[in-house]
Amino acid sequence: MTQRKPNPELGVVIPCYNEEAVLPELLDELDKLDKALPGPVSFLFVDDGSTDATAAILTDLCNRDRRYACLSFSRNFGHQDAVSAGLQHARGDLVAVLDADLQDPPSVIPAFVEKWREGYDVVYGVRTNRKESLPLRLAYRLFYRILKKIANIEVPLDAGDFALMDRRVVDIINRMPEHNRFIRGLRGWVGFRQTGVLYERQTRRSGVSKYSFGKLMKLALDGLMSFSAVPLRLASWLGALAAFLGFCYLAYALVCWIIGITLPPGWTSTVIIILFLGGVQLMVLGILGDYIGRIFDEVKNRPHYVPRATLGWLNEEAGFEESALQRRVG
Ligand code: UDP
Ligand code: MG
Repeated sequence: MTQRKPNPELGVVIPCYNEEAVLPELLDELDKLDKALPGPVSFLFVDDGSTDATAAILTDLCNRDRRYACLSFSRNFGHQDAVSAGLQHARGDLVAVLDADLQDPPSVIPAFVEKWREGYDVVYGVRTNRKESLPLRLAYRLFYRILKKIANIEVPLDAGDFALMDRRVVDIINRMPEHNRFIRGLRGWVGFRQTGVLYERQTRRSGVSKYSFGKLMKLALDGLMSFSAVPLRLASWLGALAAFLGFCYLAYALVCWIIGITLPPGWTSTVIIILFLGGVQLMVLGILGDYIGRIFDEVKNRPHYVPRATLGWLNEEAGFEESALQRRVG
């Protein structure tokens, strides 16, 4: 087993998009976390193009407290890109990823560190219960179970991005150049020793969810399509099903002809067949289009984000501006 440092340095990455309402409470919790850990702790906020007072609060914070830094994006790039950028620039032997809204309590992180001490390289939070609305809970349950069935990586059920990673895992994730990132999948892909810690997922402390329905759908599709080719194979299955149904109909028509039943003129059956085949074809085209769209994104190879400003200890890191655009996230 790898020898673990007694007082490792922890870096905490916190993506923020219009979180002015929850920041004061969050900062109290982060202070408690720092006190609970023996080693040094640094915090890296990633301001994902906030338009409220988030940037002002973070500027003030980074100017007066040396534990804090902030990387601001030029616009809203999305949660997964914010987490990726945070992982790219976080300090520490260990890096934790935490939502700003206190749904994932920072007080669980010391338990993560304990697991790391036992020799695990990735410790992720597993939600024992969720406090979201029933339809959303059902959708999450269904998504994680489908993903587990069809993904070509080991995906823990009901685990999100809330996790603690050893430096070597973070470095590997940072070297992955892909766009449309599904961090919890990339994290699982890396391997090493991974384990979960159970915790109760809270309701958001203040403010409203920043994940619109569209963003959630995109995240779900990124997870399914980046880690599985099963949707592509669906085309062959649907084709086989359509052919089988056609064959059944042909057999039925033959039997009728042999025993002398004249079938009514085939309007209905024709329409059914056309609709069925048309539907299958459109669906398969859609799936192909989605994969091609993703390939297009990779080929364009644009940066994952555009930095607008850096604050706090990030400014002490040499050559930040050039590196952020050249290296790309990953
Ligand atoms: N977030 C972000 N960019 C976005 C959407 C969300 O950085 O485009 C952040 C948000 O500030 C929060 C975290 O990602 O810290 C999770 O978002 P949220 O709590 O709104 O999502 P939910 O928990 O409702 O799925
Ligand atoms: Mg939330």
